[in-house]
Amino acid sequence: MLLITYKCNLHCSYCYEPKLQNFRMSASKAKQIIQEQLSLLDDSYDSVELQFMGGEPLLEFSLIKEVSEWLWSLPMGKQLMVLFAPTNGTLLDEEMKSWFYANRNRIQLGLSFDGDKSMQDANRSRSYDIIDLDYFVNTWPEQSVKMTISPETVKSLADGVVFMHRKGFKYISADLAMGPNLLWSQSSLKDYQKELGTLCMFYLDNPELIPFSMLRLNIASVGSEKNNVTKTCSCGEDLVCVDWTGKSYACHLFSPVSIPYDKAERSNKVYDFSNHTQFISDTCQRCVLSKICNRCYGMNYLCTNDVANPSPFHCSAFKIMFAANCRFRLRQAEQNNDERSINTIIKVLSKIEINE
Ligand code: SF4
Ligand code: SF4
Repeated sequence: MLLITYKCNLHCSYCYEPKLQNFRMSASKAKQIIQEQLSLLDDSYDSVELQFMGGEPLLEFSLIKEVSEWLWSLPMGKQLMVLFAPTNGTLLDEEMKSWFYANRNRIQLGLSFDGDKSMQDANRSRSYDIIDLDYFVNTWPEQSVKMTISPETVKSLADGVVFMHRKGFKYISADLAMGPNLLWSQSSLKDYQKELGTLCMFYLDNPELIPFSMLRLNIASVGSEKNNVTKTCSCGEDLVCVDWTGKSYACHLFSPVSIPYDKAERSNKVYDFSNHTQFISDTCQRCVLSKICNRCYGMNYLCTNDVANPSPFHCSAFKIMFAANCRFRLRQAEQNNDERSINTIIKVLSKIEINE
């Protein structure tokens, strides 16, 4: 993950990036970092993913273009090189569109877009009208669009997801906005629960659609004795995030683009990212949902100053999502007369006690 700029042209309502610094990476520094990182790899890796991160990466389109074309001109080892950049989509001009389209099989853009017009405009600086959704759908039909749901837009979650499906997105991922300054209330959690219920009905009526990420939990793995996972992502191990000076961090959430410089430095000193026992709290260790809970260590660090401790909000929201998944899977199995799945879900439910 290369942090190529700290700048962004939008001011999203939930953004936690301090935006105090305006650093940008030079193309020569980017090439040097990539060469250093590639030289550390051995043959055990089948593929390498390089992410151009911001801020808003398309502010540095000329760097992305130069570095990508340089990489494609190098003789690669046996590893497949995947290039990716997340974007708010507002800066794509005709030149960028034709370059990305011509190279769409070797570099992908992942669009962050927050739902229908009212949701997108409420969260993302009134930017709905300047984003070409069809371009993303047609250029990368298999790429997921990423929705962020804020306390202001959660009441419209179902409308937003349905809208994105109607626009032609096949895969939709969604997260609740988090961060120390967000005001989620009990009533917004109730709205969240209600919206998930509405979406369960929508997907039961439209079985040809792939459910959005919040209704795609692998609930069957709850309670299985195997694979006792204690760290759920590879931050600080296989994943490294390098800033414009060449300093590395566990991922962008541990870097100065997201948190104050001192706090970012502290994460490198305090945590050994390969010691997985540091990454789970006693409470999560005892929790039956631990194996599928999508807690994010960077967000934990941002919100609670401790990688192992999720915020109480995350914990409550995850339990609501889990309960919605159980209901959805059960109704789906009943609709399909799928006895085996019904029995699996009943078994899962017998292992848990959810306090919604
Ligand atoms: S649901 Fe709560 S207690 Fe359980 S693993 Fe997730 S954050 Fe931890
Ligand atoms: S800590 Fe969070 S943002 Fe960072 S890699 Fe892990 S899941 Fe992703």
